[in-house]
Amino acid sequence: MPGTTLASLTTLRLGGPAEHVLTISTPADWADAVRAIGQRGEQTPVVLGHGSNVIASDAGHPGSVVVMNTRGITATRVDDTTVDVTVQAGHPLADLTAWAATEQLAGIECLAGIPGTTGAAPVQNAGAYGQQISDTLDHLTVWDWEMDRMWTLPAEACQLRHRNSRFKSNPGRWTILAVTFHLIRSAAAPAVYQPLADELGVHVGARPPVAEVTAAVLANRHRRGLLLDPHGPDARQAGSVFLNPPVTATQAAHWSATGCPVHADSDGQLRASAGRLLEHAGYGPGRQVADGIRCSDQRTLTLTAHDGATATGFAQALTELSAQVKIATGIALRPEPTLVGIWP
Ligand SMILES: Cc1cc2nc3c(=O)[nH]c(=O)nc-3n(C[C@H](O)[C@H](O)[C@H](O)COP(=O)(O)OP(=O)(O)OC[C@H]3O[C@@H](n4cnc5c(N)ncnc54)[C@H](O)[C@@H]3O)c2cc1C
Repeated sequence: MPGTTLASLTTLRLGGPAEHVLTISTPADWADAVRAIGQRGEQTPVVLGHGSNVIASDAGHPGSVVVMNTRGITATRVDDTTVDVTVQAGHPLADLTAWAATEQLAGIECLAGIPGTTGAAPVQNAGAYGQQISDTLDHLTVWDWEMDRMWTLPAEACQLRHRNSRFKSNPGRWTILAVTFHLIRSAAAPAVYQPLADELGVHVGARPPVAEVTAAVLANRHRRGLLLDPHGPDARQAGSVFLNPPVTATQAAHWSATGCPVHADSDGQLRASAGRLLEHAGYGPGRQVADGIRCSDQRTLTLTAHDGATATGFAQALTELSAQVKIATGIALRPEPTLVGIWP
């Protein structure tokens, strides 16, 4: 597609020319895409889902950009209580969680409202409200650009950690083509996270219906500005711009005492709220950070792009924010979105 820009493929709507865009609409398109990329002499393409977790460079990308737009869910009964659900990589995660709620399949209800595709979700082990992809992932079907072949990768081989995986630490080598989850056939799902239990008006550990948990997650995300509204004032964003940083027990005690939320992640690592640390460094909702870039009116940790914004400016703003937090708190923040395209 000549004339396409990375801006048109990302939620921040920033980014220069995308020279060669290949949209994968059905699994059968894959072999042709691999051939076309090989004929151009390229090792690996840039792969995008909905572009909700990337900062695409102003200079664009001179090679191929593969957009995963495959859809489809196949459910296979394992036994009376478990179902294997295979989902094409381009299938919107939000549609998958809505489907699972209707089918009374538990295990991914807390992921409702996370923007993006199902195939991108394992890349950063997407998670929210005490649940993450690694809780239910069984295996992935991936294309290996180094070995030029397909693999089935069991969940254990994906090195899924807190917002991390072997796909994030080794970008480009594998493209996820399909994701298989192991879900529980159950009318009810446990509310394991305090804010979610509060939203539902139950105690932690109670088991409301799956559809009620899904609805409560969506309501809570809406109130906290965690849904992506393509027509709202925060439409141009890439979600939380920093990961919650790991802290020592001493730092955790210090920051908890100041009212900064500190949680243990699923690996037991204590993490402080990146948003609260930004506020400690003087930032806040609505604060201008750079030309055309400011904190969302609803949430300090979400930076939104406006007229005059550039990808370079956005990336520089993250460097500046991180430096200010380091000065104010001694804690280093790591950006969550991935850089794609040509960067100096
Ligand atoms: C409003 C908002 C709220 C968010 N809330 C959350 C949240 O609660 N929890 C959370 O974890 N994340 C959250 N995110 C981040 C984002 O939604 C997730 O990371 C999501 O999984 C990204 O999906 P995507 O299709 O947009 O991926 P993209 O942004 O297109 O890609 C992200 C990365 O994955 C790679 N990639 C994409 N597809 C594939 C594939 N098929 N194979 C291999 N690599 C691939 C890309 O190259 C890139 O490096 C939020 C984002 C926004 C904008």
